[in-house]
Amino acid sequence: MVRCLCLSLVVVLALPVSSAAVQVTTLGGNKVDIFSRGELLDVVALLQAAGAKVGFSAASGSYVASREANEVHFTPGGSLAVINGELASLPGPVRTLEGRVVATVETASALLKPLGLRLLSGPGGLTLLPLGAVPVVEASLRTSGDSATLLLSGFEERPQVRVEVDGVRLVFAEAVQLASTPRSDGVLAGVQVQERELRFLLAAGWQVTGSEFADNPLRLTVNLVRQAPATPRAATRTQPLVVLDPGHGGDDEGAKGPSGVLEKNLTLTLSRRVAGYLQRAGVAVRLTREGDEALGLADRVAVANRLQADCFVSIHVNAATARGARGAETYFMSAEPSDSEAAQAAARENAPAGPVQLILWELAHVANLEASSRLALELQTRLNQLSGIRDRGVKQAPFAVLTGATMPAVLVEVGFLSNPEEEVRLSSPAEQERLAATLAEGILAFLRNRPSPPPNP
Ligand SMILES: [Zn+2]
Repeated sequence: MVRCLCLSLVVVLALPVSSAAVQVTTLGGNKVDIFSRGELLDVVALLQAAGAKVGFSAASGSYVASREANEVHFTPGGSLAVINGELASLPGPVRTLEGRVVATVETASALLKPLGLRLLSGPGGLTLLPLGAVPVVEASLRTSGDSATLLLSGFEERPQVRVEVDGVRLVFAEAVQLASTPRSDGVLAGVQVQERELRFLLAAGWQVTGSEFADNPLRLTVNLVRQAPATPRAATRTQPLVVLDPGHGGDDEGAKGPSGVLEKNLTLTLSRRVAGYLQRAGVAVRLTREGDEALGLADRVAVANRLQADCFVSIHVNAATARGARGAETYFMSAEPSDSEAAQAAARENAPAGPVQLILWELAHVANLEASSRLALELQTRLNQLSGIRDRGVKQAPFAVLTGATMPAVLVEVGFLSNPEEEVRLSSPAEQERLAATLAEGILAFLRNRPSPPPNP
């Protein structure tokens, strides 16, 4: 026996809630306030703000909104609409509230769509946009054995690239659409499109090793590799892997130059340039952050540990009270600062590592000390040659960002942002290229000169 249980729900809104409004930016860029209560907003006012003509038929009890050649009929109390003569269901009902016709943003969007419009939710309110104005992102995948590349194009502004444990997330400045889902090829586990975000989920074993933008036309390449989880890395990885850490990010701006250049931006630009040189030399590179996002110190080195990187290089720009200070300095981890300047640098760059952390680190990673000092020396020697300065050298300091690294790890201060001349020099793309090439050469020399790994037991 089948029992049919029909529930009729009556929602009584008896609370005397004060009226609120949501700000809507029209196609012409005007801002209008539209009545809203909770998730509901006045759809008649919204359609009028969108430039639609809205009429009411007392005979049918329904509204009709028209714009250009399109027409949408909807009825308060109903979840159906007639769109250009065809019956269609809406995501939710259109209701009446305090003498107004209201619906959720989702339902309102469904009424706007046949009129050639869409609604974008943002922190400042809602924005009406023509449907066609949404960038359509083209995505394709190229696979070759244990590596793959995800190629993305069709956008005019660089999205933020956020590498996640199970994939990569692109955050655009405005809503985007995806032209078509790329074939998975056993590499992609799924693709999600949500307003301003595109998320590519990777199949088990696949990881992002780096990404690179190219211009004219703007496009993004995301490099992927498959790592066999059960086998030792020396046996599976054909390419060395370097993790570069652009210092600071997000609210943490780092040092600021006299004319306003921010360390967090310089470190990211430089890291991208270094990554370019290393990749062209056949080295896999991963950045700890791909955009202007805040990242905890522990998370930075965790990226390198998880990927079992061959080395970790944290890139920074120095600041000093002496405005004339110039040149680069390279640090590697040590419980004892090599001098008072080194202690100050560690204190400025991050909360210095605490004693317990340091003891654990020293016990676990004494073996990396020697390699870290070699990496630091390869970098510092070249940086001194580049700047013609001899007196700055390799230093040791308890940098929290290096604590916990399970591989050779160093922190480079490429110059002094506090020095107005260095600020200009470091901001020049030509100088950044020279600096990036120098850093890459140092890293490559370190990788080449490593003692060969002991055979696996
Ligand atoms: Zn810094």
